[in-house]
Amino acid sequence: MIRLVRFEQSVADSILSSAQGAYPNEAILLLRGKMESEAILVNEVLIPPLAIHGRGFSQFRGYMLPMDFKLVGVSHSHPSGALRPSTHDLNHFYGRIMVITAHPFQSYNDIGAFNSHGDRLPSEVLPDQQPQKD
Ligand SMILES: [Zn+2]
Repeated sequence: MIRLVRFEQSVADSILSSAQGAYPNEAILLLRGKMESEAILVNEVLIPPLAIHGRGFSQFRGYMLPMDFKLVGVSHSHPSGALRPSTHDLNHFYGRIMVITAHPFQSYNDIGAFNSHGDRLPSEVLPDQQPQKD
């Protein structure tokens, strides 16, 4: 059960800036991170392989995804401004969380994290962490 989604600041900034850059089309990013008990820390974004600029999430195909155990989900933008997943989005849910950023993509309040049922998950943005030594 995931109760909290934590974004490193650089990730949240990348989500917003990619959405602004793709507008009026949808931007799609893969999210990498790790589980921290009942939270997910998202600490890296990747541009999906074979992503075709201008195509929306609805054309996004799971088989384009690399085998990558650090993938925790997919982020996409909603130029419409709706900060919630559509039924179609939920039918294409991949990973543990779905992140949506809604137009105007101006603040962290324009980013929402959802579970596979479409429920909004609490989220927070935190300063980037320094690499840790074990
Ligand atoms: Zn969508």
